[in-house]
Amino acid sequence: MATRRDLRREFRRRLRAVTEDPELEADLILTRVLKISRADLLADPDKTVKPDEIRLVERLVNCRLQGKPLPYVLGEWEFYGYCLKVTPAVLIPRPETEILVDAALEAIPPDAEGLAVDVGTGSGAVAIALAGARPRITVLATDISLAAVAIARENLARHRLQERVELYVGDLLVPIKSRLTSGRLLAVVANLPYVPTAETAKLAWEPVVALDGGPDGLTVIRRFLDQARDFLPSGVPVFLEVGYGQAEAVRAEVLRRFSGADVTVRLDLAGIPRVIGFVTSADGQGRPAANRNPDLTS
Ligand code: GLN
Repeated sequence: MATRRDLRREFRRRLRAVTEDPELEADLILTRVLKISRADLLADPDKTVKPDEIRLVERLVNCRLQGKPLPYVLGEWEFYGYCLKVTPAVLIPRPETEILVDAALEAIPPDAEGLAVDVGTGSGAVAIALAGARPRITVLATDISLAAVAIARENLARHRLQERVELYVGDLLVPIKSRLTSGRLLAVVANLPYVPTAETAKLAWEPVVALDGGPDGLTVIRRFLDQARDFLPSGVPVFLEVGYGQAEAVRAEVLRRFSGADVTVRLDLAGIPRVIGFVTSADGQGRPAANRNPDLTS
């Protein structure tokens, strides 16, 4: 009978072929299958593992050896302190996207009441982080992918946020258009597809619809900015995640639609400009601010 110690040793050895951290990955897969904590795994190394559990670990390790990203192998991943279900229907939440959440939370006071919007919610990661941190807001979350929204729904239920996060299937702001003028709109955040089409191949395991931003990566961001100009009232803080080297181009796209906007740029931990922020102004359609959002001016 194989013990936990035997399995750790064996699977570490095999995982070395695909990862720089075979110890951690082997332990994460083992603890997932055995439904125990890593502390338990280490505390009781001589305990034997049942054959059906060993078979399941084998299968997951084989998937990993074929290049499947660890979060998909495990079926869950952590974002902003929340354990989220992830499948190949959704993008794996990235640590740099936590900066997008931080930026939005700076714009939303702790006791604020009103609406926040998460465009392209995927697994629901950003919407959950926002709703979790601001107990009096409601988040409207949209995604073009029905399969992604199904995962987001499960994640909301997991974290008991289904009452305060509303999910909509559709193109960017379109499905919530009628909601954007009523109530207090506190912030709009979006982590949209921004990878240039030619570079999407290397992210083969993740959904193309979540990554592919067209020839220069900015096709979806431009469409979002058009909708922001057409649908959002003035005075709304907007935060967009962007890819490596895109910040200046996105700033120009913002200014083209919101002339005179004060565009801010936040860096990620690697020093890459990652989040673009601005506040909507009334010049989008040439209408004065007061006409565009009576609720905000009162
Ligand atoms: N951060 C992802 C990557 O570059 C892309 C996510 C996105 O397109 N929004 O791998």
